[in-house]
Amino acid sequence: MAPSLLSASINRPGETSDMVQQWSRTMTDPSCLFCRIIRGEIPAKKVYEDENVFAFEDINPQAPTHLLIIPKRHFAGLKEAQAEDAEIIGRCHLAAAEIARQRKIEQGYRTVLNVGPGTGQSVFHLHVHLLGGRPLGWPPG
Ligand code: 5GP
Ligand code: ZN
Repeated sequence: MAPSLLSASINRPGETSDMVQQWSRTMTDPSCLFCRIIRGEIPAKKVYEDENVFAFEDINPQAPTHLLIIPKRHFAGLKEAQAEDAEIIGRCHLAAAEIARQRKIEQGYRTVLNVGPGTGQSVFHLHVHLLGGRPLGWPPG
């Protein structure tokens, strides 16, 4: 995917792009599985990366397309998100839409954020699931 549509810098108030780049590199949790995948310490099938967003194949796919799209900056999930995280959450969804176009699954796909143990959230680094390539029932289980 051409990163140009999605990769413009996201600056918090008072931050320069240089500061954001530095911050993107350092705001990771050393023990977090997905931070370790971003750093290449744990192998994963990467499908997209830009300055802010990283996407890879889910290790236990629940549909022909099952990707995880994550912010490079670590935060635990939607419940923990701050107002300044709004743009990166949107960018994860825009990346999902672009990947869905490329994979020609636009006839029907789903983006999902599991929030909290009641949904089975098992990794506490915000991640958008992109599921598609088969009929997806509603309501979800
Ligand atoms: P959650 O249940 O937290 O919403 O989703 C976590 C997802 O991460 C699950 O779908 C699970 O299969 C996936 N996952 C867990 N460990 C790994 C891993 O080491 N590599 C990859 N690629 N996916 C993982
Ligand atoms: Zn993390």
